[in-house]
Amino acid sequence: MRQQFFKRQPKYLLTYLCHQCELDFTSTELTQPECFYCGSQNGFTLLNKEKFIRDNLKVAEERMSFNLKNVYEA
Ligand SMILES: [Zn+2]
Repeated sequence: MRQQFFKRQPKYLLTYLCHQCELDFTSTELTQPECFYCGSQNGFTLLNKEKFIRDNLKVAEERMSFNLKNVYEA
């Protein structure tokens, strides 16, 4: 369950502009873009693509591997 969650971590956060309602919304590369406001599934312009960062998760992982390392080297 946990493994599956990690495998589906998105790499990018995508911002689209919907041509139907002219509002922008964000999605990831893992999901088919769909406008949050009008439900439209096409007619978008990709406005921005940025790295999907989960700082908290990264910090937790680093701390976990650090702890494990200490255990093995002790
Ligand atoms: Zn829309």
